[in-house]
Amino acid sequence: AKGRGEGGYERYRPEMEARGAERSRQAAALRTAIIEDQLVVHFQPVVTLPEGRITGAEALVRWQHPVDGLLGPGAFIDTAEQTGLIVPLGVRVLRAATREAATWPGELTVSVNVSARQLREAGFPAVVEAALRESGLPARRLTVEITESVAVGGGATTENLQGLRDLGVRLSLDDFGTGASTLSLLATCPVHQIKLDRSFVPDGGSDAIARAVAQMARAFGLQTVAEGVETAEQAALMTRLGYERAQGFHFARPMSAADLRARLGATAVR
Ligand code: C2E
Ligand code: CA
Ligand code: CA
Ligand code: CA
Repeated sequence: AKGRGEGGYERYRPEMEARGAERSRQAAALRTAIIEDQLVVHFQPVVTLPEGRITGAEALVRWQHPVDGLLGPGAFIDTAEQTGLIVPLGVRVLRAATREAATWPGELTVSVNVSARQLREAGFPAVVEAALRESGLPARRLTVEITESVAVGGGATTENLQGLRDLGVRLSLDDFGTGASTLSLLATCPVHQIKLDRSFVPDGGSDAIARAVAQMARAFGLQTVAEGVETAEQAALMTRLGYERAQGFHFARPMSAADLRARLGATAVR
């Protein structure tokens, strides 16, 4: 690849040092953010197709930065992954999300993103179990979203996936279609749901992939969610293709916990 020497190593360039320094500054700031509770969790509703009735929400982390304002995960998730801070960050998000979801009415569910790195850690199901116990949220109302990168496995990944299932937590394969080994992963990875990546939600072009994924999901008996649905046309198309759930700006943007609560008409019980 461009900019890389033999063996895939990046050839040294002076700006790499600057980048490294910037990265370690951000890592230090992020560590502080985790300790000082600058992370906040926003929620984006997940709805039924075709009705658009809210069945739950996905928890999405933000950083309330003291200087830069509210930052999206694109600004810091890579640093968190590379430094291992994704592990404590993930625990914070899990706790906050389950605590919040426990205040929602009925059987509304919450989906939490878990990185491959968290899933490799021995004892991850116990962390989830503790969050459920402390929040009072029933396991069936929690969905853990994993990406195809878990296919790489390692550490306790396989045991952990089974451990989560044993708790009664639901598993969702996120960003479906963007990774590798999709078919073999479906055969070996015990998920309940797949989320079609928004890059495959047709926008005037071909619907071949969205259609194929829906058929594959049916074959495996999995629930389907279309993410990144931005228009009424896309919602109608995904409904026709058999998608059962959707998420996207057409229905609702990610919002604060308070805004979602207001929208649900739920009263805070904390
Ligand atoms: P994701 O899991 O695929 O989450 C969906 C992303 O798509 C969110 O971006 C959401 O705001 C955005 N989105 C939703 N509907 C639409 C739409 O209709 N159009 C468009 N263009 N975008 C839409 P966000 O919040 O910036 O999150 C980005 C990624 O950061 C997430 O992608 C997820 O991979 C990661 N992430 C977020 N929170 C966490 C977390 O707590 N832990 C971990 N490990 N990763 C997280
Ligand atoms: Ca997700
Ligand atoms: Ca996704
Ligand atoms: Ca995505």
